[in-house]
Amino acid sequence: MSTNQKPGPVVNEWARPYWDYAKQNKFCLQQCNDCGKHIFYPRIACPHCGSSDVKWVEVSGKGRIYSYTVVENNAPSAFQADVPYVVAIIKLEEGVQLLSNVVECDPYQLEFDMPVEVVFEKLDEEVTLPKFRPVKG
Ligand SMILES: [Zn+2]
Repeated sequence: MSTNQKPGPVVNEWARPYWDYAKQNKFCLQQCNDCGKHIFYPRIACPHCGSSDVKWVEVSGKGRIYSYTVVENNAPSAFQADVPYVVAIIKLEEGVQLLSNVVECDPYQLEFDMPVEVVFEKLDEEVTLPKFRPVKG
C-alpha cells in the first residue's frame, strides 16, 4: 500500500447505509423497533434484545468525550502529516459509543466529558468520515 493514501473503512452490506448517509452529511444510527435502543456499530440484529427488526434513524450527532489520546508520533504513513491528532471514544447522547477523531481544536485543550458534535470529512468520492469537534461556547 502506498504510504500517502489513507486507508478507508471496510464496508459490509449491513453497514452500508451508515456510510451512504454520511456521504449526505447525515449522521444516522440503527435503532431497534422492539426495545427502542440505539445500536452501534451496525449489525443485523439488536445486541440488546436480539430482535432483527432494526431501522436507520438520523440522530443528534452530539455527545461527550469519554476517553481520548493525542497521537504525537507515527510510523511513516499517510497519517504522519496530521500529528498531533486526537483519537477519541465518543459517547453519544443516544447512549452508544464510537471511535473517531476530534478535530477543529487544540488537542491539548481537550478534557474528558467535553461536549462535542459531529462534523463530516470527505475522504474521497466514496467515503465521508464522521468526526467530532468541541461544541463552541
Ligand atoms: Zn432491541
